[in-house]
This record gives sequence, C-alpha cells and structure tokens, in this order.
Amino acid sequence: MLVSEVMLQQTPVSRVLPVYEYWLSRWPTPAHLATESLIEVLRAWDRMGYPRRAQRLHEAAQIIVSDHGGTVPHELDALLALPGVGDYTARAVRCFAWGLPEAVVDTNVRRVVARAQGGQGEAGPPRTVADRAGVTTLLETLTDAPSQCAGVAGLMELGAIVCRARAPECSACPIADLCQWRNAGYPPYEGATATKQARFEGSDRQVRGIILRELRSSDTPVPGAFLRTLWVEEEQFERSLQSLLEDGLIEPAPGERDGYRISGS
Ligand code: SF4
Repeated sequence: MLVSEVMLQQTPVSRVLPVYEYWLSRWPTPAHLATESLIEVLRAWDRMGYPRRAQRLHEAAQIIVSDHGGTVPHELDALLALPGVGDYTARAVRCFAWGLPEAVVDTNVRRVVARAQGGQGEAGPPRTVADRAGVTTLLETLTDAPSQCAGVAGLMELGAIVCRARAPECSACPIADLCQWRNAGYPPYEGATATKQARFEGSDRQVRGIILRELRSSDTPVPGAFLRTLWVEEEQFERSLQSLLEDGLIEPAPGERDGYRISGS
C-alpha cells in the first residue's frame, strides 16, 4: 500500500501498474527492499519520473526495518516521519491498508465535495484542514456510507467516473439530490484556481532524468565530460547535476577526477 501510494503521487495509474507489480514481486516486504542497492532500486523505478520517490521509499524501508520491526506502522506520526510520506499518503495508508478512519482527500474527492457541498464547480487550491473537514461533513450526510474508509473510496470513485472535471454525468450520480452545485443550476466558477504543474520539456526535471538514466544504465562511473554532451544549456546542466548530488541520488565516483555514479553503487 505504501509503495503504490508513493508511486501514484505524481504518476498515472497506467504507468505505475507494471512497475508496481515488478517491485512487489522483487521486494515483497520492506526487509527485501531495505537491503537492496540504490542503483537497483532506481533501475526498477524505470521511467516513472521524480526518482527521489524511489530513493525515499528505499530509505523508508530501512527505517521500517530498523524502527518498526519490518512492518509499516499504523500511527499517523510514525508514518509522517518516514521519508517521502506526506499527509495524504500517511492517511491513505492508514485508511486503505489498515482500515482506520481517515478523511483521505485526493483531487477527485475535493471536486465532489466542492460541488455537492460547496456549490462550486471547481475545488480551487488545496486547503488541507478545510478539505478534510469537508469530506467528513459530506460523509456524515450520507447516512448509508458503511464506514469512513468505504465512504472515502466511494467519493474517489464517484469523482473519477461520474463527477468528472469536464462533463459530469449527473443523471447517474447517487448523490445528485443533495448536490448544491447542480441544485443552483451549475453557476460558473469564479474563485482561485489550483496551480498547474510546470512543463516537463526543457525543465531541470528533464535534465535530471537524462543524467540519471545514463548513470542507472552504466555499471561503471560515467565521466562528467560525457554527461555534459547530453544537454546543450551548460548552466542548466550544472544546476541539475548539482541538485542530484545534493539530493544524494548520485555521487562523485571515488578516485575519479570527473566521474559520477548512482550513490552507493
Ligand atoms: S450531481 Fe453532478 S456535479 Fe453534483 S456531485 Fe453528482 S455528478 Fe457531481
């Protein structure tokens, strides 16, 4: 559950699925992942992007083994203390892995709550505490929700399949009667909008990905002079290389004047 939630943080489910299945077959428990080398973990991450997530999962597995007896903890504080685990991921693990009552809020849930309860066509920028309170209140009005986790899962599915961002299918919506946006005649949204993710093409993320891909696929250190031929913008290349070094994803190869490798490989 923790692995899938981290993978899904910034990657669509269709790209996550094959990688997730491979990870679980190769490292079925935190103990298996904890003893693996970072280069193998990054190779298995494939091209899912934001590879710091793989590095953090690796570190989290080591902490789970050393501090929690090899089992993903149930407590919110303990989950939040793991590398790469934020509020959403911690609550999703508690809810969907352990069945504990949590108001888990993703984009789809926020949209349903904004429409059904807030009377707004869009959810606007995230507001963690208010968003969670909105979910709890909406679920309280749905008297047939079997449990908070099941209710949250239902809202997620409703937002993904029926209450879509564009063209919601209100005639098939089980909560249409109480939807304030629908009852108000679908007024246009005039509030603030959520920030859009920055473009990938030409970004530092793209340069980092190119450098990492080269180092991941090599069993020996790669000369910096060669890496520099992979990107035309010198300053951007150096900035991206530096950020990978600072993140601990790569390191200078010992004994080499200008060679790099995946950390610990
Ligand atoms: S009635 Fe329409 S807009 Fe309202 S929650 Fe259902 S699908 Fe969404």
